[in-house]
Amino acid sequence: MNNIDTFVQLVQESDNIVFFGGAGVSTESGIPDFRSPDGLYNQKYKYPPETIISHSFYQRYPEEFYRFYKDKMLYPDAEPGITHLALAKLEKEGKLKAVITQNIDGLHQKAGSCNVIELHGSVLRNYCERCHKFYGIDKIINSEGVPMCDCGGRIKPDVVLYEEGLDDEIVTNAINAISNCDTLIIAGTSLVVYPAASFIRYFKGNHLVLINLSETSADKMADLVIHGKVGEVLSQIKI
Ligand code: NAD
Repeated sequence: MNNIDTFVQLVQESDNIVFFGGAGVSTESGIPDFRSPDGLYNQKYKYPPETIISHSFYQRYPEEFYRFYKDKMLYPDAEPGITHLALAKLEKEGKLKAVITQNIDGLHQKAGSCNVIELHGSVLRNYCERCHKFYGIDKIINSEGVPMCDCGGRIKPDVVLYEEGLDDEIVTNAINAISNCDTLIIAGTSLVVYPAASFIRYFKGNHLVLINLSETSADKMADLVIHGKVGEVLSQIKI
């Protein structure tokens, strides 16, 4: 049996799966990741992306931050890909208990997944730093320069920037989901962004599967490693 057949059989036999994913899940929806050869980190900017999308840069140079953010981080017309849709189906079948994502694009929910744990927030939610009024993505897209609230406060994306901590409740939910599943599928992530990448250490189930285009530090821990496109692999699941 080849690795993909083994994977399909594993999914067919499992009813307690958790999926842990990253930017590679959305590259097939046309959203670039950070670390692939054509990812954002390999494009040339005045500052490295890690610097621009950090808390201190946002505070100091909000106009420059928003120029990059609007240009490179917002994809309002992106549609869910095979992976998002397959995961939503697996959840409806009762086989998949949670999607834990480092992505901020909202595509899992758009595909129909309900239990989505967003470790790094979402570009679809934005709030006024002064009065906490919430705004959708349109407010950001349609604002000139730095988006401002009706009250005069600055609007910030509900996204975890570099240097910012993760929400405690979200971390607890992610760790609980990983600790309690029998099969953990890790896909489309370089596993270099911490603390998110460290949560997979809480897995104590039976089957750890890793699907990624390139090698990761967790390949050696996994029971099954598939180096390929996650959409192509998940499209093989017949639900
Ligand atoms: P990353 O860019 O560091 O790594 C992506 C990984 O996915 C790479 O190892 C790459 O080889 C792999 N990959 C790319 N396309 C793939 C495919 N079709 N199938 C399988 N593997 C594929 O991304 P990361 O680990 O998620 O960390 C980057 C951080 O950047 C995250 O915290 C996330 O918040 C943010 N980010 C989010 C988005 C998004 O929301 N779509 C996009 C870019 C970055």
